[in-house]
Amino acid sequence: MTTAQVIDLVATVRDPELRVVTIGELGIVRDVAVYDDRVTVTITPTYSGCPAMDMIRSDIEAALHAAGFADVAVDTVLSPAWSTDWISESGRRKLAEAGIAPPAAGGGRPVSLSLAVRCPRCGSPDTEELSRFGSTACKSLWRCRACLEPFDAVKTL
Ligand SMILES: [Zn+2]
Repeated sequence: MTTAQVIDLVATVRDPELRVVTIGELGIVRDVAVYDDRVTVTITPTYSGCPAMDMIRSDIEAALHAAGFADVAVDTVLSPAWSTDWISESGRRKLAEAGIAPPAAGGGRPVSLSLAVRCPRCGSPDTEELSRFGSTACKSLWRCRACLEPFDAVKTL
């Protein structure tokens, strides 16, 4: 396998919490280094303390072991911090289709939730956070004041 093929393989690992998007679409894969049967993957966590990171790590290892790599290491790098700007266009579309508010672009900086969250149903930015804890640890529960639709939003800090 070429390095480009290994990058493609790693990018297809699904986010274990969001499911509808891959880690490639989330933009968390920073680097892939291949030396014979050894691979080192560097990722940036989307949300510090998010328990999904351990699952992503083991999913990457499983995918690469299945592809014949004996020695797989997954490193995390926290700086620069992941930003929702790194979510690809297809990732944003899939999140919206799943009723998960894709945070708005924030100019390369981590965005604040008040700027980030739009209703996935009607697009209104007039939303309020109901709970820090949504259906999973990486999401919080929001409600749209315009159409009253409750929805999950990806935590961005
Ligand atoms: Zn709405």
